[in-house]
Amino acid sequence: MSFGDCIFCKIASGEIPTAKVHEDDLCVAFNDLDPQAPTHILLIPRHHIDSIAKAENGDQETLGHLLLTAGEIARNRGFDEDGYRIVINTNSDGGQTVFHLHVHLLAGRKMTFPPG
Ligand code: AMP
Ligand code: ZN
Repeated sequence: MSFGDCIFCKIASGEIPTAKVHEDDLCVAFNDLDPQAPTHILLIPRHHIDSIAKAENGDQETLGHLLLTAGEIARNRGFDEDGYRIVINTNSDGGQTVFHLHVHLLAGRKMTFPPG
């Protein structure tokens, strides 16, 4: 699949209009369309990376930024005390379905571990 067909590239560029909960030079965040928790936000890098399995040393700043931004969104929404979960599904066994790297931020309910 070329990046031109990537749904999250289209969301990042604005080609597919999506209500964004955050955006900056490196990343975009928006609500998951099939939420698995009262708050379920996806954070994606602006530039296409297939998955953590394909990430490179040059992606270090972007990956750190995604995690820090997820924490900032959670803090701003008052989830620091109760907590939340950050998930990066990777490839088939990890349950990844969209191959543009994304961070799930799930909050607002008690999570179980290990995940299914
Ligand atoms: P994963 O299974 O980790 O690859 O997660 C992909 C996530 O993207 C799923 O939770 C989907 O519900 C979500 N998703 C897919 N397409 C869209 C979209 N157009 N807008 C928002 N969320 C989406
Ligand atoms: Zn993409």
